Amino acid sequence: MNFLEFIDRYAAHPNYFAPRGNQLYAKSWQTEAPLRMLLNNLDHEVAENPDELVVYGGTGQAARNTGALRQIIKELLELDENHSLLVQSGKAVGIVRTHPEAPRVLIANSNLVPAWATWEHFERLKQDGLMMYGQMTAGSWIYIGSQGILQGTYETFVACGKKYFNNDLKHKLLVSGGLGGMGGAQPLAATMAGATFLGVDIDPERIKKRLQTGYIDHISYSYREAADLVLKAKEKGEAISVGLVADIGDTLQNMLNDGIVPDVLTDQTSAHDPLHGYIPSGISLEEAILLRNADPDTYRERSMKSMARHVGLMLKLQELGSVTFDYGNNLREMAKQGGEPDAYNFDGFTPKFIRPLFCEGKGPFRWVALSGDPEDIYATDQALIEAFPENHHMINWLKKARERISFQGLPARICWLGMGEREKAGLIFNELVRTGKVKAPIVIGRDHLDCGSVASPNRETEKMKDGSDAVSDWPLLNLMSNTAGGATWVSFHHGGGVGMGYSQHAGMVVLADGTDRAAECIRRVLYNDPAMGIFRHHDAGYEQATETLHQFGMEFK
Ligand code: NAD
Repeated sequence: MNFLEFIDRYAAHPNYFAPRGNQLYAKSWQTEAPLRMLLNNLDHEVAENPDELVVYGGTGQAARNTGALRQIIKELLELDENHSLLVQSGKAVGIVRTHPEAPRVLIANSNLVPAWATWEHFERLKQDGLMMYGQMTAGSWIYIGSQGILQGTYETFVACGKKYFNNDLKHKLLVSGGLGGMGGAQPLAATMAGATFLGVDIDPERIKKRLQTGYIDHISYSYREAADLVLKAKEKGEAISVGLVADIGDTLQNMLNDGIVPDVLTDQTSAHDPLHGYIPSGISLEEAILLRNADPDTYRERSMKSMARHVGLMLKLQELGSVTFDYGNNLREMAKQGGEPDAYNFDGFTPKFIRPLFCEGKGPFRWVALSGDPEDIYATDQALIEAFPENHHMINWLKKARERISFQGLPARICWLGMGEREKAGLIFNELVRTGKVKAPIVIGRDHLDCGSVASPNRETEKMKDGSDAVSDWPLLNLMSNTAGGATWVSFHHGGGVGMGYSQHAGMVVLADGTDRAAECIRRVLYNDPAMGIFRHHDAGYEQATETLHQFGMEFK
């Protein structure tokens, strides 16, 4: 198949689709893998808006524009194993001489010199066609749909249940805003954790997408109806989820007026981007789009004011008893700038629930079956269940995931694994490929939201024990170790999750193609990657990380 035929079949804009099966279109699996994952990120089952090459998280793109995307596809089809492709903010810019164990693709997205790292400057560059926003896994081609955040969200809700509700979310009402690419995982995570869930999104299409994928149970266009449904379900202890089409601020105000106090309250609107992510209150979705184009400054101002009101209502509900936390969208910062001085009076989810996991090198490990066959994922699930018989938490998760998760695009799995476990799992997957127990290679990656790969003072590195929240040497060291270790593609991004100026983070993906070479790369990369989380948290003074450091003999001798 020549290049144009390939484009016609797999990348005719906006209909993207990754090839399945074990026939290669590129020269080896090392380049076939990133090619398939790039196309998979843009598959309409996976991406929120393939028309604009937007994968998730407001405006997180997989490539800068359709021309740049085609060029990347062409280069990946032609690249050999002694060269690597350079991608700068979603555009192929060169090929360098490397070697077979080096990453095949080196990606840098949305990076700006610190004093210029603002949305305003970024927007100018974007308008001039010089940049794109890569979010975390959009521009690094390892987004796997809402499942990618599902387990993290589930772990967070379970941890919340443990900490505040005697380990039981039954008869508890969890309320949140935003049911987009990531936020859409909340209803399923909440019901899997036993809670009753009310999610609010201004865009009915987003809720419909969650209905189609089985992530949410009901859609409602009426506050009264939605409130009745969830209050009855809470009373009966039913773990159901309802998506209400409305503005989150208006809904919280209605709840306050009615004396409905959620047991747990959070938010996943795209607050990190006040221009393209958050919809100001008081106008319809259609009016918001018109205003955004006609008068971006007014839009931004209204958006930040709405966020100030939104957070003000969250603070009131917190006073009345809601366990309230920021869920990684920089809502507090935007609200503070929009006029709510007490915006930081509730915590972020990392210090509140997740940091102990980071201290064990645990994070959102994920893998994808390039064959496209769900049976390959079930084979990996089974292999892990047999290899970790003592890990009941993981086994329970894998069983639940198999029952409740419908795949989006190429079949994939998320499973939070820690130091030692990731390397072991990766080698098992490579063996499954080598022995033909799965039909094609498997790619192994993770979110950038991991223990040692991100500096984000309002999120993953909020309130570090030693005050090192804003030190971004760590994600750079993470990038360098994964490059030196032989990941198959690596990336370094700015602004993911929380927006321009607020984070820097690194990504990696490593291929399990059943070869000895892959086993060596996996051994190095899946050791180095979580090790960075242990080094980072040990250095910051976390005893639990120091224990893990000793357990794995990682201290200086
Ligand atoms: P998305 O853009 O796909 O979805 C955001 C949703 O919010 C949209 O459906 C939009 O209609 C809705 N929305 C915007 N303003 C609203 C309002 N006023 N009222 C009701 N709904 C409104 O984004 P996403 O991928 O779901 O990510 C959501 C946020 O979470 C982003 O800020 C992202 O950076 C952050 N994020 C968090 C994590 C995490 O681990 N907690 C991970 C990734 C991303």
